[in-house]
Amino acid sequence: MDAQITIIGAGVVGLAIAERVSKEFNDVFLIDKYPTFGQETSSRNSEVIHAGIYYPKGSLKSLLCVEGKRLLYDYCKENDVPYKNCGKLIVATSEDEIPIIEGIQKTAFNNGVEDLVIIDKSRIAELEPSVLALKAIFSPSTGIVDSHSLMKSYETGTINNGGHIVYGSEVTGIKKIESGFEITLFDSDKSNYMFTSKIVINSAGLTSDKVSEMVGIVDDKLKIMFCKGEYFRLRPPKNHLINRLVYPVPVHNLEGIGIHVTVEMNGGVKLGPDVTYLQSNKYDYKVSPFKQEAFFKSARKFLPFLEYDDLSPEMAGIRPKIQKPGDPVMDFYIKEEKERGYPGFINLIGIESPGLTSSLAIANYVKKLISI
Ligand SMILES: Cc1cc2nc3c(=O)[nH]c(=O)nc-3n(C[C@H](O)[C@H](O)[C@H](O)COP(=O)(O)OP(=O)(O)OC[C@H]3O[C@@H](n4cnc5c(N)ncnc54)[C@H](O)[C@@H]3O)c2cc1C
Repeated sequence: MDAQITIIGAGVVGLAIAERVSKEFNDVFLIDKYPTFGQETSSRNSEVIHAGIYYPKGSLKSLLCVEGKRLLYDYCKENDVPYKNCGKLIVATSEDEIPIIEGIQKTAFNNGVEDLVIIDKSRIAELEPSVLALKAIFSPSTGIVDSHSLMKSYETGTINNGGHIVYGSEVTGIKKIESGFEITLFDSDKSNYMFTSKIVINSAGLTSDKVSEMVGIVDDKLKIMFCKGEYFRLRPPKNHLINRLVYPVPVHNLEGIGIHVTVEMNGGVKLGPDVTYLQSNKYDYKVSPFKQEAFFKSARKFLPFLEYDDLSPEMAGIRPKIQKPGDPVMDFYIKEEKERGYPGFINLIGIESPGLTSSLAIANYVKKLISI
């Protein structure tokens, strides 16, 4: 056996798993098709440390987000990863949205997020004088993190623990064998290479369903649909009018949590992401200038200072959704596939938001699924 544990995908989740697992096990390999880490979803997101407010009680999304947030703040402090515990407002801009935010507060309380407070107009004016709202939830534990530095830190941790990282190599085949799995790589020098691994952890993000199919697990419920989220930048100097994250009330089935205001570590501010299921699973990161009107109208409800020309197209990310359009919210799928006949094969599929926040909690959860 060449490897004990092979992790496919060096996004923030695969890297966190590699960092945690390489502390305990030898011969851990992390593989990615790109020349470096985080070239897909992990560098195209809002970089928010979510509090765990919205997710259904008892779901992995809820449990791992609440636990992950705590672990992430501690990790950032210990490892000098830049972060800001800036807090967040969820704003009700009309009377009929007030019961919705009260409901959100209850859901969050049941999920173990007990620090949310509902604040009135005068307190909103103290915290965010440029934001217009009748009432708001204030979430003090929400924050932002420099996701690139976080990934770099997980990478360094993995190497320091003796783990091996192989970039520029795409996994193109996985075969179940007596003692584990035989993995085929297509290398950066355009040759095929085969090795064996006792455990395989599929953390391949947008193509994790395809990687799962390579070993023989074909399941319609695990089919990923690409769901794009676009952002517009708030041009300076108006970015200085906002200090913390500001969200509208979410759409009913959490396909996204509304076009929100995200503050960045460097003081920049962007609006987004919206939610658009792509017709085919194509990597389409274009920002559509025609959406500027919709972003403007949506954010103007709570940002009265906003003018149309304050916005400019910024960037897009793609969510790996297993939730079909209009369906109820789906949980993270994280499972060792022994029931399907593949002991030692651990699937992570549909790791959309709050995957960044949950990365260390997901890593600990996955570590417990490993038996060697
Ligand atoms: C618009 C948007 C906003 C978001 N905002 C937030 C937020 O504010 N807070 C939060 O907590 N989460 C957020 N998320 C979710 C978060 O970004 C993801 O959950 C997280 O980045 C997923 O990381 P990952 O490692 O699973 O996947 P990825 O980052 O996609 O990494 C998967 C890796 O696998 C590699 N790979 C795939 N197939 C193969 C193969 N065959 N061989 C080798 N390598 C392979 C890819 O190259 C890639 O590097 C957001 C997501 C989006 C799209």
